[in-house]
Amino acid sequence: MSSPDLLIIDKLVKRYDGLLATDDLSFSLREGELHAIIGPNGAGKTTLIKQLTGEIASDAGAIHFDGRPIRRLSEPARSHIGIARSFQITSLFPDFTVLENVMLAVQAHQGHSFRFWRATGKEERLIEPARALLDDMGMEDSADHLVAALSHGEQRQLEIAVALATKPKLLLLDEPMAGMSSEDSGHLVEILRRLKSRYSILLIEHDMDAVFSLADRITVLVYGRAIATGTPDEIRDNEEVRRAYLGEEA
Ligand code: ATP
Repeated sequence: MSSPDLLIIDKLVKRYDGLLATDDLSFSLREGELHAIIGPNGAGKTTLIKQLTGEIASDAGAIHFDGRPIRRLSEPARSHIGIARSFQITSLFPDFTVLENVMLAVQAHQGHSFRFWRATGKEERLIEPARALLDDMGMEDSADHLVAALSHGEQRQLEIAVALATKPKLLLLDEPMAGMSSEDSGHLVEILRRLKSRYSILLIEHDMDAVFSLADRITVLVYGRAIATGTPDEIRDNEEVRRAYLGEEA
């Protein structure tokens, strides 16, 4: 039997003037699933992520998360109930070490002030969970490196560790492989493969090799609408998807 739905999106709408960026969109994400959203440029993938985090308001429809309606909840309230987005690189502190960045994220989640940490030193209660997150991300050897000295790929990995510090029930990843070398993205695929047994993940990604090797299910978005949801094999074999998006080579 399949797992229960963690996230249900029902007839969701986002309008920009005359344009329907999200057009009556419906699909669900199961607990423990890595669900990928693919679609051509402008299909509405980033808009959807912003509607899920609460960064932009939806015009109609419903979002249910963990059994409750959340469409009208604020961004902080959604973060509090367990929705985390991997943040932009600019949210990292470049002059702090990798470990310190994750410790600050753990501390923010635990609700203590920055000053408190500075006054009391690097405590076990922050170091232990921060080191565990770095292990999860395969970054334990970089713990003492300054963020400013990391490669682009390592900074993107660190963003994910920072997002996981909030202990989310759902992790939203918006093009985590963008701008990475093929070696770095291969490495990240392996890390996500390990993480996916423990987290529910919504992945938006243009790297089709990564998507088809990682996803349990894939939803194909075209002009803000879901034209198909299915396993990688089902999506590969779907005629409408091939016509609309993947092309003959898929
Ligand atoms: P990409 O793969 O290129 O990142 P995407 O699938 O993430 O694209 P979105 O960025 O969500 O697509 O954009 C969906 C549509 O909404 C596009 O036509 C885009 O031009 C439009 N759009 C996005 N943001 C705005 C905005 N703030 N104002 C007006 N139109 C917008």
